[in-house]
Amino acid sequence: MQVINNVSERTQYYLDKEQRYGAHNYHPLPVVLNRGEGVYVWDVDNKRYYDFLSGYSAINQGHCHPVIMKAFMEQAQKLTLTSRAFHNDVLGEYEEYVTRFFGYDKVLPMNTGVEAVETGLKLARRWGYEVKGVAPNKAKIITCEHNFHGRTISVISFSTDNDSTRNFGPFTPGNVTIPYNDIHALKVALQDPEVVGFLVEPIQGEAGVVVPDEGYLAQAAALCKESNVLLIADEIQTGLARTGRMLACDHDNVKADILLLGKALSGGTMPVSAVLADDEIMLTIKPGEHGSTYGGNPLACKVAIAALQVLKDEKMAENSAVQGAYFRQELLAMKSEHISIVRGKGLFNAIVIDHADKEAAWNICMRLKDHGMLAKPTHGDRIRFAPPLLINKAQIDECLEMIKKSLNEF
Ligand code: PLP
Repeated sequence: MQVINNVSERTQYYLDKEQRYGAHNYHPLPVVLNRGEGVYVWDVDNKRYYDFLSGYSAINQGHCHPVIMKAFMEQAQKLTLTSRAFHNDVLGEYEEYVTRFFGYDKVLPMNTGVEAVETGLKLARRWGYEVKGVAPNKAKIITCEHNFHGRTISVISFSTDNDSTRNFGPFTPGNVTIPYNDIHALKVALQDPEVVGFLVEPIQGEAGVVVPDEGYLAQAAALCKESNVLLIADEIQTGLARTGRMLACDHDNVKADILLLGKALSGGTMPVSAVLADDEIMLTIKPGEHGSTYGGNPLACKVAIAALQVLKDEKMAENSAVQGAYFRQELLAMKSEHISIVRGKGLFNAIVIDHADKEAAWNICMRLKDHGMLAKPTHGDRIRFAPPLLINKAQIDECLEMIKKSLNEF
């Protein structure tokens, strides 16, 4: 194996193909993976790594979880797609399972996370006109600075990130932006009678795992209720055991009016998302008014049941809470001059790098890669650490050593 600039010839072959034929809309680490199992992935040179991104938290259950794979393979050989023009014998079973699991009257199945967000926004607007009584086309949604809810035109319309919005306008109106973790700002914004929803991430993931003050979500939920405004919780990244509870909202004992799920709802096998709400909200959408060809397909439904059951059976929320607390404690104990902040909940964590070099976080991630651990910087100076939730203490210890070594070498 010939190695050029720390990248093997074989790896370079795949990097070149993507560079030549793929759109340049991502900036991945130069590692080419071809196998995954549990907390590990392997590259094309058969080098093993700990996966500390978990597909942006889509692989909470670990790579190729055998129970999820079994459900996937069995259903894939029977029936994969009917469209919603006809019924199938799995959709109802899944709808019953997921609504009971999270305690809502109804679910609306979609595919990607951003589709769930779009669906949540449509539901809130529809409810605003037909239940709250807002004048036609006047409905507003409150969102937070530094949010990340996906990439469609409507959803980037309330992004405050220049990379997400530059030269993609004109944007969709009907949005009010407030600072995150600012209850006073929310209180003021809620005074507008045209506001129908408050869309919020319980912890801001892409912003670099920004954890709000304790009780923020509970206070926000109470204020929304007082103002007859729907709380829309985007748990696409924070949900499904990632933060040490099944939902991040559970830390504050909050039940959102509209709950958005995605990513780990399929354990990393295929795009499966869901919007959960009670009848007063969900039944405002009638046949033919919203949908998706693949939404609610039998393969997705079977996989989602297995993915949720695995989280519960293997007590992944509990493990996330225990290992996450230990991981943060040990990161703090390193007292590295390069780390200015350690933050997170459960196994959803980040460090902020304090270094004059703007490329510092990227360079640290490159060192981590060389030592056998994959993590990705976000917003220049932040590194997110989010391994699969079945990771154990011995494995965490091994990863802490790799982090320590990489920081020391820097
Ligand atoms: N919402 C949140 C909080 C996310 O973190 C993401 C993706 O990272 C999305 C929505 C969009 O999900 P998708 O990429 O599946 O469209």
